[in-house]
Amino acid sequence: MKVMKFGGTSVGTPERMKHVASLVTSSGEPTFVVLSAMSGTTNALVEISDYLYKKNTEGAHEVINNLEKKYMQHVEELYMTAEMKEKTRAFLSKQFDYLRSFTKELFTSFEEKSIVACGEVISTNMIINYLNEQGVKALLIDALDFMRTDKNAEPDLPYIKEHLTTIMKQNVDYQIYMTQGFICRNAYGEVDNLQRGGSDYTASLVGAALSADEIQIWTDIDGMHNNDPRIVEKTEPVHHLNFEEAAELAYFGAKILHPTCVQPAKFAGIPVRLKNTMAPEAEGTLIDNITKKGEIKAVAAKDNITAIQIKSSRMLLATGFLRKVFEIFEHYQTPIDMVCTSEVAISMSIDNDTHLTEIVDELKKYGTVTVDTELCIVCVVGDLDWHNVGFETRAADTMKDIPVRMISYGGSNHNISFLIKAEDKAQALQSLSRSLFP
Ligand code: ASP
Ligand code: MG
Repeated sequence: MKVMKFGGTSVGTPERMKHVASLVTSSGEPTFVVLSAMSGTTNALVEISDYLYKKNTEGAHEVINNLEKKYMQHVEELYMTAEMKEKTRAFLSKQFDYLRSFTKELFTSFEEKSIVACGEVISTNMIINYLNEQGVKALLIDALDFMRTDKNAEPDLPYIKEHLTTIMKQNVDYQIYMTQGFICRNAYGEVDNLQRGGSDYTASLVGAALSADEIQIWTDIDGMHNNDPRIVEKTEPVHHLNFEEAAELAYFGAKILHPTCVQPAKFAGIPVRLKNTMAPEAEGTLIDNITKKGEIKAVAAKDNITAIQIKSSRMLLATGFLRKVFEIFEHYQTPIDMVCTSEVAISMSIDNDTHLTEIVDELKKYGTVTVDTELCIVCVVGDLDWHNVGFETRAADTMKDIPVRMISYGGSNHNISFLIKAEDKAQALQSLSRSLFP
């Protein structure tokens, strides 16, 4: 079975919902569908909760009323029969009355979780009703019946697998199985969620639990591109990445799955395919465990990087120096991205300089500190195993006219990164494109 997940913009209007319905039924084969809330809805539900935390019932009611009006309008556009319109209106009225019921209560994060869960409950019910109206045999499985986190707030994989497979065995012969992304129960049985953007996580968990053939993530872009289309002309979609390459690119904000979201798929060896709802015929990007030998896949850049160097003769032949330095960053919850060491100095890059002053202050106890700001990391991703001769030179050679602050290579088998001035970014990306993807 295939798992198909559609994000908020893919189900953002009645028109798009109809399009999704045709995409999931087009193969004619049994398919498992995971849906996000319609775009904007989760944000509106968070806003309602904000008003309720502040005990502003009027503000909450206004957002609820506007949202309800919008959904009632969708009903008119989505369904053909008076019967289905009536059924869906009744369902929506109940949902919105439920939202209004919170305005009378004490408000805590527990109530907020129940409120934000409504977006996915509504979108799935609306599309199921549409599919049923079209005569498709479609079943809505409540995510709260099988999606669960454990005491560490991590997905409870054995529980999910056991409960979902039981539900599937009890319901054979459907063409479409559908569930809500994002929402779950926690270890105590309370309504909870997998964090914002968590629908991708749901799809990956469902795919792993069902040993699916493939997990498709449908969004509004053509998969991953091999360079930044805002800076480089004629970028091309990358048709294949392995999970590690995808994880490297995720840091660069490439519109790609969050690495934790794809972990269940990665461990279960299930390929993940990124597809574009607006251009379904486009190939998209396939992510799996296979490494394409000798291929450079993509170039990406990350802005607003700061480099910090600490130089100390005390470091020479000393043990524990790195630990002391890293602990300072840890204390200020500042992740380090690139690291380069020499025998008497370390350079590190960070992308969050909130605590830069404090960090520099403490580092000065151990050595002489210098800071460079307004930098960017340019990263080349692909099969960069050290046995492949010449790949790092090709990338480095492209930077021959650009001052390079740091180079990182050999950390993984899939990347080489250059830290350069922000002002040189466009030139670096363009020349890398010319030399690596001629
Ligand atoms: N609806 C949720 C959100 O907006 C989950 C998702 O779309 O993945 O964060
Ligand atoms: Mg999303």
